[in-house]
Amino acid sequence: MSAVVQSIAAEQELTDGFNLIIDALKLNGLNTIYGVPGIPITDFGRMAQAAGIRVLSFRHEQNAGYAASIAGFLTKKPGVCLTVSAPGFLNGLTALAHATTNCFPMILISGSSEREIVDLQQGDYEEMDQLAIAKPLCKAAFRVLHAADIGIGVARAIRAAVSGRPGGVYLDLPAKLFGQVMDAEAGKNSLVKVIDAAPAQIPAPDAVKRALDVLKSAKRPLIILGKGAAYAQADDEIRALIEKSGIPFLPMSMAKGLLPDTHPQCAGAARSTVLKDADVVMLIGARLNWLLSHGKGKSWGDTPKKFIQIDIEPKEMDSNVEIVAPVVGDIGSCVSALLAGMGGNWPAASADWTGVVSKKREENIAKMAPRLMNNNSPMDYHGALGVLRTIVKERPDAILVNEGANTLDLARGIIDMYQPRKRIDVGTWGIMGIGMGYSIAAAIETGKPVLAIEGDSAFGFSGMEVETICRYNLPVCIVIFNNDGIYRGTDVNPTGGSDVAPTVFVKGARYDKMMEAFGGVGINATSPDELKRAVNAALDSGKPTLINAVIDPAAGSESGRIGNLNPQSLLKKK
Ligand code: ADP
Ligand code: MG
Repeated sequence: MSAVVQSIAAEQELTDGFNLIIDALKLNGLNTIYGVPGIPITDFGRMAQAAGIRVLSFRHEQNAGYAASIAGFLTKKPGVCLTVSAPGFLNGLTALAHATTNCFPMILISGSSEREIVDLQQGDYEEMDQLAIAKPLCKAAFRVLHAADIGIGVARAIRAAVSGRPGGVYLDLPAKLFGQVMDAEAGKNSLVKVIDAAPAQIPAPDAVKRALDVLKSAKRPLIILGKGAAYAQADDEIRALIEKSGIPFLPMSMAKGLLPDTHPQCAGAARSTVLKDADVVMLIGARLNWLLSHGKGKSWGDTPKKFIQIDIEPKEMDSNVEIVAPVVGDIGSCVSALLAGMGGNWPAASADWTGVVSKKREENIAKMAPRLMNNNSPMDYHGALGVLRTIVKERPDAILVNEGANTLDLARGIIDMYQPRKRIDVGTWGIMGIGMGYSIAAAIETGKPVLAIEGDSAFGFSGMEVETICRYNLPVCIVIFNNDGIYRGTDVNPTGGSDVAPTVFVKGARYDKMMEAFGGVGINATSPDELKRAVNAALDSGKPTLINAVIDPAAGSESGRIGNLNPQSLLKKK
């Protein structure tokens, strides 16, 4: 402490940037930080831990960021990620952009270098104009320069993250801010407890009536539930709406389990039929983006459609096709208003239509069933997923994390979910890399066991975090669908050179040994029976476990179900 500060301290109680940031987070119930320590935030992490915040250190900022993003989805509070400047910030930024794209509330807090030097571009340690870079990739971005503004800065970040359509917020904290000293009483008074961070947004009565009129006119109605509906935590209202209306519903992947996939009205196994034949489609917290073929084209068939859309974001309406009945508001309020408007004697969806849907669904389920019961070794996707499907049925409160190509597409269809917010996956971008970050946050935020079903390629993006899982002794069981490569392990180098094809990995790799290196349990499973035993043991014990599930390298198709998105050369292959 300088002599000046010491003499002031003799007369008054002081606080500083470190303490004010910690106090501001705690005051607002943000009690967990996912991050990677380093200059200038190492001491901040230590002090936060000492002050009772749970500080979880990762091996790479992107994984910490993904953890924070999914913590936001699971809790409706912004997940906090803490990184160092420049490269650490950039690593975290991928996750911040991901949170924004997926509408998850998250705050990325990065330390940054000295403003004066950065702005004059004089070459500071990790020099970068982080605020400018973050801005186009998130919902809002703020920088705090004075300790007295920390309270307001944190409050703005929280409100921006969770109100309206949730998203990612960047908070830039220059190194100098942490040590800035101010009067403790004034500091305390500068903190802001955010009141009603995500205010209810009540839909206009006209909009509700218009939607009900359209719904009533439908002959073959369909409800599509998206992850916004899962996020909203309006589970009872949504179930009531679906059951009262009798309308078949189609859950998007992270909305699976809002109502059980085995619910008689679930049209998951009759997806193509309902998309083609429905005449009125009500979207609840789902966008008509690429995941729904933009609401048009072949998969939507020839039947003219009318769309009703419930969303908190008014600009979402008409983004791909005309929305004849936009209902803008939060899902809880909108669904409640629809229910109230339906009154006591709402006509149930026609039995003709629901009969067609059920029949198709039963046919598809019956067609799939025998493939899921094979005990082939090496395994194929269906044999392996068949046993995991049964395990999830027996343990409906476990959280399922899922990424990969075939591993993702097939697991999504095959594994039924029974409870809300139990399936978390690649989301709007369809990305690889969320696996271990999501698994860690899911275990931390919910206390439930986690089953991560991972393609071998997907796992590679975050695999080093198995050390983190072991370090915190988390109940995470990772199953790697190891088919020796990306999509498949059978491609060959057409030149006959010694390099393998770009999509091929080391043959017969033993990912299970990675887990053993850090004290976790590693198992090599070569048949569905072995896989079943190993997963059950892992979920019973709660011990960090990695199962290397040996899949036939020839199983798997290019890009899973989205091979059509690959551009192809029309020229003759040489
Ligand atoms: P999916 O990928 O499952 O189809 P999307 O991410 O495309 O889901 O859509 C989620 C939608 O939910 C977004 O348009 C978002 O604005 C909306 N949303 C998120 N939270 C709420 C909420 N609480 N109330 C209303 N809409 C919400
Ligand atoms: Mg693979």
